[in-house]
Amino acid sequence: MFQLTLRRRGISDQSVLRTMEEVPRELFVEDADRSDAYRDSALPIACGQTISQPFVVAYMTEQLQVRKHHRVLEIGAGSGYQAAVLSRLAGQVLTVERYRRLADVARARLEKLGCHNVEVMLGDGLNLPANIGPFDRIIVTAAMERVPDNLIERLEVGGVLIAPVGPHQGVQTLVRLTRSQTGIERKELVDVRFVPALPGVAREL
Ligand code: SAH
Repeated sequence: MFQLTLRRRGISDQSVLRTMEEVPRELFVEDADRSDAYRDSALPIACGQTISQPFVVAYMTEQLQVRKHHRVLEIGAGSGYQAAVLSRLAGQVLTVERYRRLADVARARLEKLGCHNVEVMLGDGLNLPANIGPFDRIIVTAAMERVPDNLIERLEVGGVLIAPVGPHQGVQTLVRLTRSQTGIERKELVDVRFVPALPGVAREL
């Protein structure tokens, strides 16, 4: 049923569909929401954040065109679900989260699932240390008013970045940037709604 819903909504990449089928989303939602884990909707997680809607996870993953040798950066680990999906398609995944509590829970889940190529880092994805990167793929799963240059600079030539760009409240546009030898190509994909990307490591747990 899960795969069928995603197919109907236009996901066609077999490796993405297979991965979505294999990763147990019920392990990434709150206990009370387990029976809704395979519905195509976003769900609340700790710290006032959300686990994205399965279609959006599948769509962003498909658009990212991840290959087995890629180093992937995710900004916004949240539940760790998107990172688990990426883990099966990529070489290495680094996912950054600004809430310690979310980062710790995501790390434990990913370890338990055997996603040994994922590193969960507590930090601010809007202001990463200079020695992090470069990456073949970058996926931002929190809304940004604009994509910071210091993220784009971490893309390899041939690299792809996907981010929801727009106002923090309301609707954003999923934007795909591709870095070539000569510059950056920008393509607008679909409208989405994400929680905002906020600066700094959160002071609360
Ligand atoms: N990809 C997640 C959903 C992300 S929700 C999943 O699969 O569950 C967005 C997440 O981005 C939230 O957990 C939020 O705390 C985090 N976030 C927001 N701004 C951030 C920043 N500057 N650096 C790192 N994480 C950030």
